[in-house]
Amino acid sequence: MNKAVFIDRDGTLNDMVYDETHGTLDSPRRPKDVSLKPYAAEFIKCAHQHGYLTIVATNQPGIARGTLSLKALAAVNDRLAALLAAEGAEWDALRFCPHSPPSASAKNEYAVECNCRKPRPGLLLDAAREFDIDLGGSWMVGDGLNDVQAGKAAGCRTILVTKLKIEQVERFFSLENCRPDAIANDLKEAAEIISTSMARYCQEKQETEIFTTEVTKTRR
Ligand SMILES: [Mg+2]
Ligand SMILES: [Zn+2]
Repeated sequence: MNKAVFIDRDGTLNDMVYDETHGTLDSPRRPKDVSLKPYAAEFIKCAHQHGYLTIVATNQPGIARGTLSLKALAAVNDRLAALLAAEGAEWDALRFCPHSPPSASAKNEYAVECNCRKPRPGLLLDAAREFDIDLGGSWMVGDGLNDVQAGKAAGCRTILVTKLKIEQVERFFSLENCRPDAIANDLKEAAEIISTSMARYCQEKQETEIFTTEVTKTRR
């Protein structure tokens, strides 16, 4: 079986784009709007060095909302792939959810409840079947709590990549499936966590401590 690092796209591999009209941060819709987050290429290369497949898993509700065409999405993905390739990195696969729940702004054939829109784990589960992936030995890395939720629902370990202070995000961890195994400031830290499987803030650490205690007890 293979193991994989699932990686969110927008806000994790590439920067979000400021939309002046609406005052919001959005996914890039044109190739020229795509810029890499720091260490994006290094992160993918590091995952490969440690034997992981790299699979980008991204929600693209703009398709259902009619603000993004499949062609435009492909052009943005191609641009992102080209920027990464220029730094020697290449993902193994990219899977996207084009859906959004039906609403006033989402009413085309993609406007449906689906199992692939994160926080649901469908993208990861489908990729696991396709690439024979052991989800328990895999990671989901992203900047959103929905990435953490999808990763945990799929049975992966999770890393939340955020510059927010722990006090700012910690209160959300009590929400269902929102507590990541680790928090990283950027993809460089995320790569370090994956390469050492050590987390600055994680359940795994507590488990390691429990394990150590038990081993100590057994030795006596
Ligand atoms: Mg994101
Ligand atoms: Zn979907």
